[in-house]
Amino acid sequence: MQSLQQLLEFDRLHVWHPYAAMPNLLPVFAVESAQGVRIQLMDGRSLIDGISSWWTCIHGYNHPRLNQAAHAQIDRMSHIMFGGLTHQPAVELAQKLIAMTPAALQQVFFCDSGSVAVEVAMKMALQYWYNRGLPQKQRFLTIRNGYHGDTFAAMSACDPVNGMHHLFRNSLTQQYFAEAPQIRFDQDWQEQDIASFAALLAAHHDHIAAAIFEPVVQNAGGMRFYHPDYVQQAKALCEKYNVLLILDEIATGFGRTGKLFACDYATVCPDILCVGKALTGGFMSLAATLTTREISESFAAGEAGVLMHGPTFMANPLACAVALENLNLLDSYDWRSTIGAIASQLKTELEPCRSLAAVKDVRVLGAIGVVELHEPVDMAVIQPRFVEEGVWLRPFGRLIYTMPPYIIQPSELTAITRAIYKIVAQI
Ligand SMILES: *Cc1c(COP(=O)(O)O)cnc(C)c1O
Repeated sequence: MQSLQQLLEFDRLHVWHPYAAMPNLLPVFAVESAQGVRIQLMDGRSLIDGISSWWTCIHGYNHPRLNQAAHAQIDRMSHIMFGGLTHQPAVELAQKLIAMTPAALQQVFFCDSGSVAVEVAMKMALQYWYNRGLPQKQRFLTIRNGYHGDTFAAMSACDPVNGMHHLFRNSLTQQYFAEAPQIRFDQDWQEQDIASFAALLAAHHDHIAAAIFEPVVQNAGGMRFYHPDYVQQAKALCEKYNVLLILDEIATGFGRTGKLFACDYATVCPDILCVGKALTGGFMSLAATLTTREISESFAAGEAGVLMHGPTFMANPLACAVALENLNLLDSYDWRSTIGAIASQLKTELEPCRSLAAVKDVRVLGAIGVVELHEPVDMAVIQPRFVEEGVWLRPFGRLIYTMPPYIIQPSELTAITRAIYKIVAQI
């Protein structure tokens, strides 16, 4: 058996990590196993997970109910193609998603990742207008500071500055970017906040197929919480100008913000909704794009007669079975109080960070706690520091944040907020 050192060295030289160089310049830690909110490293250390494996693992690792659902499904079939075939896990998961999401969303497209769910949503919107005889509607309106994934159409709607537009400018469709909302979640709404969005729609709606953005919380684009009225007004404007509304709830879905979906804060039903990340409780990759009867039924009459998308691993039965169990699990306890308790603890325990010299802002919404700094963090330094403190966090840019598993205990959450305070105080 190779030593831990050999394993890490091969990894460094041959295995790509997210947004990494090759050979990798940043430290990587080898994981032995994970249980509940604990990540067990191969070097013997144990970490409390403060970011739920990129916001997915809401019920912790190795959850007995998810494992049981996976075992039961593996013994039947782990995969079967979805072209011409169907199965109980996909149908029952679709029923569950339709029941959970806003009422008008009745049709479900399953795919393998969040980025693909966004690609499908954008394609649906383009093809919908094509079906309706308005093929000139080819562009998208989005808002700055957004993040929608790493594939090309998704990337075209990411923030043009902190996204990757600069590098890929000549290969990306140029979309319309409204100014990012400035009125915060808990401030008084002001009409002016939506003016840029409204002006772009007024000027270019003939060429805009859909608006796409993350409702209420902008996640990887800056961890910003903005006013639900923005979402409401955006919906009204989209209707007025004959433009579809795509809401990307890949990060915010399934309770994270304190509502089941962030669009529930605005009581808005989008025309198209993307979900992913926490869908399987972090067990494996699965995402979905939901839409309305009106949109889905337009395809039969269009030139293609069908929606032109169909991934090889569409509606993978193992992923669907685990997702269904994860959503049933979410239904089985009072997650609203759980998230409420996490939110109030985060507010109390992160607030002292505000007085630290390096800190620009502290904010909390639902089970999301953010400490924004004046300067970007040095990952090579800060990542090992958090590991030394026994917690797993993954800061980016000027943001140190936690999005813990919902099952985290108060003492474990305190370990996370203490580590954040201690390390930020040393910056
Ligand atoms: C993570 C994320 C995506 C992309 O999902 P992947 O599964 O990484 O492809 C898209 N939109 C939002 C809002 C996300 O947070």
